Amino acid sequence: MSEQVASHNRILIAEDDAISLRMLRAFLAKWGYEVETAADGAEALAALEQANAPQLAILDWMMPGLEGPQVCQKVRQLSDRPYTYILLLTARGQKDDILRGLASGADDYLTKPFDSHELRARLRVGERILELERNLIVAREELRFRATHDLLTGIPNRAAVLDATERECSRQVREGGPFSVIILDLDHFKSINDTYGHLCGDRVLREAAHRIAASIRTYDTVGRYGGEEFLVVAPTTDGAGALALAERVRQSIEASPIETEAGPVRVTASCGVASNNSAENFSASGLLKLADEALYRAKALGRNRSESATMPGARAMEAAAEGTERISANP
Ligand code: GH3
Ligand code: MG
Ligand code: MG
Ligand code: MG
Repeated sequence: MSEQVASHNRILIAEDDAISLRMLRAFLAKWGYEVETAADGAEALAALEQANAPQLAILDWMMPGLEGPQVCQKVRQLSDRPYTYILLLTARGQKDDILRGLASGADDYLTKPFDSHELRARLRVGERILELERNLIVAREELRFRATHDLLTGIPNRAAVLDATERECSRQVREGGPFSVIILDLDHFKSINDTYGHLCGDRVLREAAHRIAASIRTYDTVGRYGGEEFLVVAPTTDGAGALALAERVRQSIEASPIETEAGPVRVTASCGVASNNSAENFSASGLLKLADEALYRAKALGRNRSESATMPGARAMEAAAEGTERISANP
């Protein structure tokens, strides 16, 4: 194993005694640490409060102003940041002092005069703990991503895009203004699977998702709504804007064949657009139902096209929920 630790391992030393500080710094630099120093407790706290602070710190217990344990306490109160591993350096070797130091939030302590081998071994323990924490954070992020994203296409999954619909819908009701959703369904997709195979179908799905995501605006969201169905959430967008958006997305899929292992595959899509143009109260489920009906019309009228419906107001929403036909199709 190399004698050097990775150079990204930054460490803060807080020590008011200049000679001890110089000695510590020399050891740590030799061991490969990138060393930052503080001459008292307040300086140490300021350094550790920085967003990009070192995660490893050696704090002298007795310093003018803030003492080591007080710095520990304040650092432990900081939230929303990676863990700081703190080693207290103390001339006090009494059991009570040690307990007080650890109770203040220190992870470990070393009594002065310290043995350099022991210091090094204890820093390695700190490194291990920090490494474990980093791995846990990566694992947690990965789990969070998997819970909200579709693994095949990498875009938000059904639950996540429905959440986004509900969230944006209530915001639009609160703030007023238009709101639209688009359901896009690939045409005759079953025959793509049947002709070229399921893997090729997967490739087409991935590329379709990519083209949709590239065609929408930054404040729109697209998710995988079902097998070969996608849902686009378009906040502050009225019926005309949403129809134009649907057409842009549809054309991006139609524009060029998708390259697959089985050769280029042409695919088209049909879109059902539903909009609420007024600030009147409306529900996400009512809007989705309208979009689904518009999609059905697009399929019936020959596919590779967009059809839209507008929710004129609360009465229409109730009517849609009851399954009656009191909606007006856009021209
Ligand atoms: P339409 O134009 O009426 O929408 O016809 P369609 O063939 O696209 O619709 P249908 O609902 O009959 O078939 C959808 C197909 O999508 C059937 C299903 O096997 C396929 N599918 C769903 N999810 C996946 C997937 O993750 N990968 C692949 N390769 N195929 C999928
Ligand atoms: Mg001191
Ligand atoms: Mg479908
Ligand atoms: Mg389909």
